[in-house]
Amino acid sequence: MRTPAAFEATGKSPRDAKKFALRFWAIRNSAAMERMYNGLEWTLVKLAPAFTAIGWERMEKPVAKVEKLVKGALFDCKMCGQCALSSTGMSCPMNCPKGLRNGPCGGVRANGNCEVYADMPCVWVKAYEGSQNMQDGAAIAVPAKPVDHRLKGTSSWLAVAREKSGYNARIAAERAAAAAAAKAKAATGKSGGAKA
Ligand code: SF4
Repeated sequence: MRTPAAFEATGKSPRDAKKFALRFWAIRNSAAMERMYNGLEWTLVKLAPAFTAIGWERMEKPVAKVEKLVKGALFDCKMCGQCALSSTGMSCPMNCPKGLRNGPCGGVRANGNCEVYADMPCVWVKAYEGSQNMQDGAAIAVPAKPVDHRLKGTSSWLAVAREKSGYNARIAAERAAAAAAAKAKAATGKSGGAKA
């Protein structure tokens, strides 16, 4: 018999345990998922010049749609926009009902299930299991940054491609150069004005 979840709203229909099946399959196969993701990331980084030509903003909607479809099915992805799967054993931390991104709370049950949803294995217990099969499994020990909720719904894939292709660094350098040029121009104008 299904154990009711502690904080489930009354009248909410019971969640189907089968819903987790694909998520757990992906975690069991975290090594293959890691290889697939590394391949995808490599491709996206290579495609960065094409994305720049088309316009990253124009790419955002269609890519986010595909990402949601694929990762929603495989990982129950919530599209937080800052994917942690590579460092969480392919177990999405956004499925933790407490939204914890840096390990489990103190309430994991003796059977490894979630304190809130008694019929769901703890996301972080699964994350540890998944990380053990991954080449970069040690990444689970690196503290994660707080979630930036402004990124919700955006594509993590594109964000990684922008970062790893050097696009973000180039834009930052261009902006810094433009700001420095504007400052220098303003200073020249001031000193010119002072002479007059
Ligand atoms: S960490 Fe974020 S982007 Fe990655 S699967 Fe979870 S919700 Fe989706």
